[in-house]
This record gives sequence, structure tokens and C-alpha cells, in this order.
Amino acid sequence: MSIPDNLNKIKSSLPQHVTLVVVTKTHPVEKLMEVYNAGHIIFGENKVQEMLDKYEQLPKDIQWHLVGHLQSNKVKFIAPFVSLIHSVDSLKLLQEINKQAQKNNRIINCLLQVHIADEETKFGFDFSEIEQLLCSEELNQLKNISIVGLMGMATNTTDPAQIGKEFKSLNIFFKKLQSSYSSFQILSMGMSSDYSIAIENGSTLVRIGSSIFGSRN
Ligand SMILES: *Cc1c(COP(=O)(O)O)cnc(C)c1O
Repeated sequence: MSIPDNLNKIKSSLPQHVTLVVVTKTHPVEKLMEVYNAGHIIFGENKVQEMLDKYEQLPKDIQWHLVGHLQSNKVKFIAPFVSLIHSVDSLKLLQEINKQAQKNNRIINCLLQVHIADEETKFGFDFSEIEQLLCSEELNQLKNISIVGLMGMATNTTDPAQIGKEFKSLNIFFKKLQSSYSSFQILSMGMSSDYSIAIENGSTLVRIGSSIFGSRN
């Protein structure tokens, strides 16, 4: 099937309250334009340089989401235009995002990345670190960021029960925070292989690449 066909098939399968981020990493701008021309404008990239290159070449109404690990020294490059940063995993990074947002006279929306996978390699906070962060004076001082929710990635496994368990635990934590923090609106969970399980477990935003573009190799 073509890229627009894949896109429309996925879009029509998503519940109305679930936002789709089309993850465009590694794909050339021509393919991104196929998605854009089909009417979709929310794109996700995992590398700063690649996002910048594509931002410069593509229409300016595209909303760019950074979904991959972000180093503090690169925040300045995306601060003028990034729409949502999914992968915030330290206070230091938040402070830098705040500083660069201030320079650009804007507020940058962020998600806190939570470590839910049973793997050493995935970045992110654990639940108790997030609770501490949210009530800290350091965070309270950051006026140019808005924390709008959480992001998590499940273990890379074929066991749907394990994936479901991880997403469920994040959803319970998200709901708990939502009752105290009204800015919490987005729960970013689910990629091509596991987005149905993520939606069953409360995801409000899915990040999908290969089911739209085909595999990246
Ligand atoms: C690449 C990537 C995705 C999309 O993965 P697919 O399997 O291609 O759908 C989602 N989230 C993050 C953080 C990614 O790096």
C-alpha cells in the first residue's frame, strides 16, 4: 500500500481522542510531503540535526515533535519552533529548555519520559523521581516550559501481556498526577508494534513510523 493509504488506514482505526504523531526519522523529505499532502501535519523526529534539516525544507505549518533523547547543548537549535518535546529525562534538561524558550519568547511544551521498560537502555525517570520533581522549587521557577504529560516506551518484546502491564502502570500513574496537575493532558505511549495495546491502556498519543513508511532499513 502507498504511504497515504497506510496513513489513512491507521487514522481511521484510532479513537477520536488519540493523536497521531507520524515518526519520519530516516525518511527523505519527499516521503514526508506525501504525508503532508494527505493532510497530516504532526511529525516526530528523534535527532535534532535531522529535524532541523527537514524543518528548513518543509512547509512551516508542520508541528515538529522531538521523540528521541535530547542533549542539553542541542536544545537551542530546536527551541524556536519545536511543538512538543517527548523525551525530557532530567531537571538539567528542563532548565536548558526553559532558558532557550525564554530567549525565543515562548513557552515550550514538554513530556516527562518515564522508564517503564524492563531494559537498562531506555532513558527516563522513575515514578518517585517524577513526584519529587513536580513538587520541587527548582521546577516552580521555570516559567517558559509547560509539562503537559508523560511519555513511555514498553519493553521490546513480543509478549503482549508484559507490554500491557507496563503501559497500564504508566496510565495509573498518569491518572494520579492528572488529579493534581491540570496541565497533564497527554500520555504518549505506543509505536507501530504496540499502539493497540497502548490505546487499550489509556494512551492519548501514538508515535508511528514503520507502519506508515515501511521498515527503516
Ligand atoms: C522510531 C520511534 C518511534 C516509531 O517507531 P515505529 O516502530 O517505526 O513505529 C516511536 N517512538 C520513538 C521514541 C522512536 O524513536
